[in-house]
Amino acid sequence: MLSEFVGGLKVVGSGRSSETYVIRDFMDKNHIWYHFLDVDVSDEAKELLTHFQLSVSDLPIIINDEAKICRSPNLGELARYTGILMDFEDEIFDLLIIGAGPAGLAASVYAASEGLKVVTIDSSAPGGQAGKSSKIENYLGFPTGISGRDLANRAYIQAQKFGCNISIPHKAESLEHMGDHFVLSATNGKSIRTKSLIAATGANYRKLPVSHVEKFEGSGIYYSATGMNISSCENEIIGIVGGGNSAGQAALFIADFAKVVHIILRGGLLGAKMSDYLVQRIEATDNIIEHLNTEVVALSGDHHLESVAIQTKMQEPVTIPITNLFTFIGARPCTEWLDGLVAMDDSGFIFTGPSIIDQELSECRIYQQRKPQSLETSIAGLFAVGDVRKGSVKRVASAVGEGSMAVSQVHQYLSEAP
Ligand SMILES: Cc1cc2nc3c(=O)[nH]c(=O)nc-3n(C[C@H](O)[C@H](O)[C@H](O)COP(=O)(O)OP(=O)(O)OC[C@H]3O[C@@H](n4cnc5c(N)ncnc54)[C@H](O)[C@@H]3O)c2cc1C
Repeated sequence: MLSEFVGGLKVVGSGRSSETYVIRDFMDKNHIWYHFLDVDVSDEAKELLTHFQLSVSDLPIIINDEAKICRSPNLGELARYTGILMDFEDEIFDLLIIGAGPAGLAASVYAASEGLKVVTIDSSAPGGQAGKSSKIENYLGFPTGISGRDLANRAYIQAQKFGCNISIPHKAESLEHMGDHFVLSATNGKSIRTKSLIAATGANYRKLPVSHVEKFEGSGIYYSATGMNISSCENEIIGIVGGGNSAGQAALFIADFAKVVHIILRGGLLGAKMSDYLVQRIEATDNIIEHLNTEVVALSGDHHLESVAIQTKMQEPVTIPITNLFTFIGARPCTEWLDGLVAMDDSGFIFTGPSIIDQELSECRIYQQRKPQSLETSIAGLFAVGDVRKGSVKRVASAVGEGSMAVSQVHQYLSEAP
């Protein structure tokens, strides 16, 4: 019997179930190899259910080489089952990096390669927003572009090669500053102690302000056009909401194999927020239709998205049989875990270096002797890099640059600590 389970993990579930989607999405993004058996079409999936005396209501399940079953796990249980969630309660680190997007991964590579005792945590998967990009074409050194997922995967492996621990899913919940060190509390109830900290928590895409969005997340509504999200788009009618570069990249990528791609845009001009090279390519692509001054007003379907109603200014709503809707409608910084601790602007972006005003500086004892370094926040020893930082450029290259630069500032901070 055991020989039947050789060959890694098997995920058994329905290709149209959002619970199965959440598990596969997590495993894909975290580079955990598995074989998916869709119970709607696979005889092997049905045989496994019979063999283990399970029914469809027990799905999704995961089976390992030793035929051990993990039934409908939440992401914490799944991460422990696959070994990527770690505990660090008895240790004190030189540096804790929160967020494994481009900024956090760059900081992880430099910190670990320079001998710091470092740990990185992320609430969902390595790669951050960049991991959601189907093709990044403006990152130095990749003239034909690279998918965000590949870029993230390379950086993830590189950081681990130098000895950086990366624990996922490990979400920062709150932070305490104890004078000479910090204590971070995470949502799994565990804490991590560290002498210095880099906040690289970036930003999150906003959800569409329409009813039933949650119902269709993973079964028709997606926030990235990568991997398995696009596998069901072939010859389908697809919607893309948003007018930034991320929406443009996704539209072009999906138009190659979808029947029609509808770009739905609140503004009146496609080029208002999108780079010219993308606008030109979109306008030259026959199966992309633009809907300007238009909003999504309703979503419908039983288990999976079946249609989307859109409304153009001053006109009646129109229903289109869109089965997959990708939304890219702006982002907000992920800084709730630092609320009340560091100086931020009204939107939650963190002030660093010269942008911290005198009144906030006076609250930190060290700043009475020296000015903050350029990436240091209103608390000495706590740095902010990438999209989460007030005034950042919101690009992969700048996030990577800031993540690397912050490590030299961490060295400076640690060298002055008593
Ligand atoms: C679809 C798309 C396409 C893009 N294309 C391009 C492009 O072609 N070129 C370009 O230069 N830029 C592009 N960008 C922008 C670029 O991806 C971002 O500027 C860059 O990813 C920012 O990096 P970051 O590390 O600062 O933050 P993020 O990438 O946002 O990463 C932050 C990480 O922190 C984690 N996190 C958040 N909160 C917590 C918490 N409380 N605890 C633990 N972890 C947490 C998140 O899970 C995430 O992994 C694109 C963005 C998107 C969304």
